[in-house]
Amino acid sequence: MTRAGRVCVVLALLLASAAAACGRAGSPPTRGPATGRLPVYQVDKGFRLPASPTWRRAERRGHLVVGVKEDQPYLGEKDPATGAYAGFDIEIARMMAASLGFDPTTTRFVTIASANRETALQNGQIDFYVGTYTINDLRKKLVGFAGPYYLAGQSLLVRRDEDDIHGPQDLDGRRVCSVAGSTPYQRIRDAYPKAVLVAYDSYSVCVDNLLTYQVDAVTTDDAILIGYAAKAPDELKVVGRPFSKEPYGIGVPRADDALRFALDDALAAREKNGDWKRAYEATLGLSGVPAPTPPPIDRYPAP
Ligand code: GLU
Repeated sequence: MTRAGRVCVVLALLLASAAAACGRAGSPPTRGPATGRLPVYQVDKGFRLPASPTWRRAERRGHLVVGVKEDQPYLGEKDPATGAYAGFDIEIARMMAASLGFDPTTTRFVTIASANRETALQNGQIDFYVGTYTINDLRKKLVGFAGPYYLAGQSLLVRRDEDDIHGPQDLDGRRVCSVAGSTPYQRIRDAYPKAVLVAYDSYSVCVDNLLTYQVDAVTTDDAILIGYAAKAPDELKVVGRPFSKEPYGIGVPRADDALRFALDDALAAREKNGDWKRAYEATLGLSGVPAPTPPPIDRYPAP
């Protein structure tokens, strides 16, 4: 190799490692507590669910494919160096895998943005989805929901130096960032039309925009915002009281009621045997909020 060629290789390597050190554009701040000791979920080895086409396909494949988020601290976060996923939603997915008879360590996680969840479930890209996914009647027309397994509420994240925003009523004329296809985005658009709404594909891009004074607030569920604030406590704070109810469900293909009911049963069992609480304490609980009582499971009849 010529000298110029060698210089080029070194430069390329330096640039690559600099890019890796900086993280992707939109990666969340990385300070804050690390993930705790994760529970080990007992696999329900004899489990079979022939009535579920999704389960049959996963069994043939040998593992589950689960849609998640990758930039939500303590909920669903992908380590840019190792590619490993961690967080409360990830643990819910793993304990569900164990209950469906799969070794949870074989679960393949795929990042799916809020706006693409229904399509991913409809076209079979994923077997189920666990990622801060609010159950509501509109979405129930497109997908099925097991759960809920957690109850969040919409809230606001602002910079520490912000004194004028305490709730959604203070957003008139202010720039507010949220994610396309999310319920918090829709609520601001419909109920607070004087706010200047900015939308991206992921909340971490909104948080980057907040830190660089491009927007004045980020809005989504408190569970998500508390994670960002805990990672950058000197720069960010969550303000006001939650102003909606966001019950998190596990999204499943709409026609697969066998899978939906099996996941309802699995959630009930894992809440009862303490796995739910152990998972919470090892993940979301690290942001400082003690484990709540999980909301009652809504085993709604087949549509
Ligand atoms: N829970 C809300 C929703 O499902 C906001 C969080 C998200 O976008 O995942 O739309």
